[in-house]
Amino acid sequence: MTSITEKTCCRCKEIKPVSDFGICNTSKDKYAYCCKACIKIQSHEWYEKHKEKVLETNKNWRINNPEKSYVAKTKWNAENKDRISEQRKAKKDQYNEQCRKRYAACPEKQKERTRKYIENDPNIIEKTRVRRRNWEAKNPEKVQMKTKNRRARKNENGGHLTAKEWRELLFEADYKCQKCGTENDLTLDHIIPVLLGGRNEKENAQVLCRSCNSSKRIQIIDYRKMSKAALGVKNEIDIQTN
Ligand SMILES: [Zn+2]
Ligand SMILES: [Zn+2]
Repeated sequence: MTSITEKTCCRCKEIKPVSDFGICNTSKDKYAYCCKACIKIQSHEWYEKHKEKVLETNKNWRINNPEKSYVAKTKWNAENKDRISEQRKAKKDQYNEQCRKRYAACPEKQKERTRKYIENDPNIIEKTRVRRRNWEAKNPEKVQMKTKNRRARKNENGGHLTAKEWRELLFEADYKCQKCGTENDLTLDHIIPVLLGGRNEKENAQVLCRSCNSSKRIQIIDYRKMSKAALGVKNEIDIQTN
């Protein structure tokens, strides 16, 4: 059999390398009649046309095969973790944005709704408080970031820090105060204080213990550079002179 390197697609009529075609045993040259791109379009069109039927069939399969369905779903979830968390975050952002808009459009109405909500269940405030306290106890890093973000927003400086970025900062600082080196009671300090217009972002953040943080007051001091100078820059000079 003479092997071919190119083939004309029967659908888009383009000449393409055979690697662009799937394998088909009923075809003379063993390659599919249409190129992969066309097959993709075709199957998408077919899906759109028979969508309801497909969804219905899938649903029935899931009902009839609960165990297999569970295994497949778990496997898919494990393989698409990033995608799922992105989708979840997007959904949450969208919801928060909606709430903000609704509140901004008619704050009185929203306040009225909250008031009714409380009337219906007088214990709701206490319940919410307990739930929030439990959550705060479990997520100290997130609590700290929330406070910082709120303060920055209040001062309209902007910027946003996540709990993950805070953990990165701690890691980069070797879990030590970047001024005195203690490992106790570490807090996030804004190099340019928020009160002076400093943004709440990683570039403007350093790790200081509570006492160093409060003795810094509203001054602009970058202890990161100092600790880097103490540790790293000396080595760089050594390399240059060698
Ligand atoms: Zn084609
Ligand atoms: Zn310190």
